Amino acid sequence: MKERITPHLRALIDAGSEAIKNQFVKMRGKNTKKKFPTLDPLEEEKYSPTKGLVHKYKRTALIKVSNYCAGHCQFCTRCRDIGTPEGDLSKEDIKNIITYVEKHTEIVEIILSGGDPFFTPNVTYELLDKLDSIKSVRVIRIGTRLPVHAPRSFKQRNVLDVLEKIEAINRFRCPVHVLIHFNHPDEITKEVSDLMWDLRRTGVVLFSQTVFLRDVNDNVDILDKLFMKLHSLGVIPYYIYRCDYVAGREHFVVPFMREVRIMIALWKRLPGLALPQYIFDAPGGKGKIRVPYLSRQIPRSFADTEGKTIEI
Ligand code: SF4
Repeated sequence: MKERITPHLRALIDAGSEAIKNQFVKMRGKNTKKKFPTLDPLEEEKYSPTKGLVHKYKRTALIKVSNYCAGHCQFCTRCRDIGTPEGDLSKEDIKNIITYVEKHTEIVEIILSGGDPFFTPNVTYELLDKLDSIKSVRVIRIGTRLPVHAPRSFKQRNVLDVLEKIEAINRFRCPVHVLIHFNHPDEITKEVSDLMWDLRRTGVVLFSQTVFLRDVNDNVDILDKLFMKLHSLGVIPYYIYRCDYVAGREHFVVPFMREVRIMIALWKRLPGLALPQYIFDAPGGKGKIRVPYLSRQIPRSFADTEGKTIEI
């Protein structure tokens, strides 16, 4: 994946943020020793019935709006695709996605992801417009990192159209939740804080997602600060993930027991609403597992949502 750094991120790096630098500047030579065997550990391709759609969990489907993001996070799970035109959705592709969702009435929740849905607002608008008329869809989630990459973009006309559409769906149809990917307190500048209030005015509920990253946020004080800042801005810390096992991204992965120790310390410090769930998206497409960190040990197996044992 090519390096792509917005002027906003560049200014933060130039001001001395190591955390931003370590996420976006390609560390040449660091990722030569490959241990993880695949670029697609979550096996998303296997669960894709039609281009742009991933249907892995019964009630939830994910639509990949595009492969484009304003900035390229070097630890990205979808680094195999990001920045390429292969994810561009034609009218026909969108029609196929919508037909599939209409037929599969068990799908009640749609996640728009990518790529960043707010970076390609026209496609996102079209998808939202069509999803709005499918009665079986009861909740829409949008995953984004544009507030971190380029907060000023939200003042652009096309993104404002999407926000107006979201406001209308929120009011008349179903809740739209926005999940923003934050990894470090340096990402929450004054502009970003102001943007959180603007987004909340559209009626969306804001959640955050975080990834444990070595030399970025594998530290109790840093994560304490991040989650308390988000909490005070009305952004609910939802998930903190173990970094996915993507080939070439080994240097970002934090030792499992270090994460457990950090989570125990955070559990003792943070109010309940500021404490995210600690999740391991198990390789091999096995799904999201809540890590039972209060046992202070990493078990060799976990139970999935259906109670089946998953060996790791
Ligand atoms: S915003 Fe998300 S999809 Fe885009 S590069 Fe970053 S982690 Fe990957």
